[in-house]
Amino acid sequence: MEKPIAHFWEHRMADLKEVLEANHFEVFLAEDALDASRVVQEKIIPRTGAKSVSWGGSMTFIATGLYDALKGDPHMEVLDTFDKSLTPEESLALRRKSLLVDLFITGTNAVTETGELVNLDMYGNRVAAITFGPKHVIVLVGRNKVVPDLESAMERIKGYAAPVNAMRLDKKTPCVKTGWCEECNSPDRICNSWTITQKSYPKGRIKVVLINEEAGL
Ligand code: SF4
Repeated sequence: MEKPIAHFWEHRMADLKEVLEANHFEVFLAEDALDASRVVQEKIIPRTGAKSVSWGGSMTFIATGLYDALKGDPHMEVLDTFDKSLTPEESLALRRKSLLVDLFITGTNAVTETGELVNLDMYGNRVAAITFGPKHVIVLVGRNKVVPDLESAMERIKGYAAPVNAMRLDKKTPCVKTGWCEECNSPDRICNSWTITQKSYPKGRIKVVLINEEAGL
């Protein structure tokens, strides 16, 4: 068989799609990051009728190329919270405004095979937007984010995603020096707000794009 790993994940993602749909998420399958971009731009966005868009920290979002594609979209009001030219105050103000857009795009730290999205945030704007505010939410999920259950989701996040993200963001936290979470009390701590999104409410508000390749942290 050619591409046995992709074949394996096709089965696992088809099963995951069913479980997530039973939890009222709308679910799309994508072969890779490029395909995920196509799915979002051709299948999801036109149906939402979104006139404004924003996003929360997600390496997967960057990997799909959607950030570059959407930030120049003349038909959208774009609230670019990644804009490095903003002052900290401006950036915070934009994060607040981004909770009222038509469409919010982000990733997830983990998705369980029992159908929950699990996230841990520094500011909380990303988990806030997933929970309430934007009319539509798109969550982009690489296959490396799939874990069996809530316990393994939390292990994945504290044991891997959070320390690597702290390193990526040049935070002054113990995990940056050691690679291990030490449940720090640092002002730079990035682990502040947990969410478990057990179901989408209203049904279909959260659209999950399952990507059959590794993406994000
Ligand atoms: S709690 Fe602190 S040490 Fe642990 S992963 Fe988060 S930032 Fe790093």
